[in-house]
Amino acid sequence: CGITGRIRSGNAVEDLMAGLENLEYRGYDSAGLAIQNGHGIDVLKCEGEADQLRRLVDQHRPSGSIGIGHTRWSTHGPPTDENAHPHTGMTDRVAVVHNGIIENYDVLREELKDRGHEFTSDTDTEVVPHLVEEFLDDGAEPFDAFMSAVDRLEGSYALAMIVEGTDAIFATRNGSPLVVGLADDGFFLASDVPAFIEFTDQVIYLENEDVAVLRPDSYGIFDRSATAVDRPVDTIEWSS
Ligand code: GLU
Repeated sequence: CGITGRIRSGNAVEDLMAGLENLEYRGYDSAGLAIQNGHGIDVLKCEGEADQLRRLVDQHRPSGSIGIGHTRWSTHGPPTDENAHPHTGMTDRVAVVHNGIIENYDVLREELKDRGHEFTSDTDTEVVPHLVEEFLDDGAEPFDAFMSAVDRLEGSYALAMIVEGTDAIFATRNGSPLVVGLADDGFFLASDVPAFIEFTDQVIYLENEDVAVLRPDSYGIFDRSATAVDRPVDTIEWSS
């Protein structure tokens, strides 16, 4: 239902929590976040609202400057802790959040199961980190692994991903909205501007099939054949 992401100095947790709280108006049944902690990826997620997630955050105190967050409006699988996003593959090497529906998830899931993958949720989303993991295992760089996985998807979706050991957020959309926020000290990502308007009013609305790569000091937007594309930066006029 709602995606947030941020890559800039300082701890990601509060920016992500603020983003999720600012997206609350969309309605949701579960919430979660994933943070690069320097050694690996911490995933915290639960059924319920942001205050439930806040409790987990206060307990575990994750820390790191790169992260993604999610509020879920269930389409595939009931609202449970396991079905909450972010989703990972066989390990916590890859974390993915997703809005929308992956129409061909059942075919992909069977395929992946035949190749030995085990699933922990009922969601359509979970096929994505498993696919990425396979491409990484084959030696692909994270950007190429993301491209190759997305290439297999049918449906309407917005996706954001982080990968262990890589200082970047990878994102793409088809049908569901996704906006990049440009700040002085880094970048934000969200399904809607209110998520990060308190941090920046400079935004890029991604077009369908755009792939955004946000790094600590730079960003790039590409089409699905990995050719860089130019997108205008808009200034949001905001009155609350
Ligand atoms: N289809 C996904 C799920 O059921 C994402 C739903 C959403 O957009 O929040 O988990």
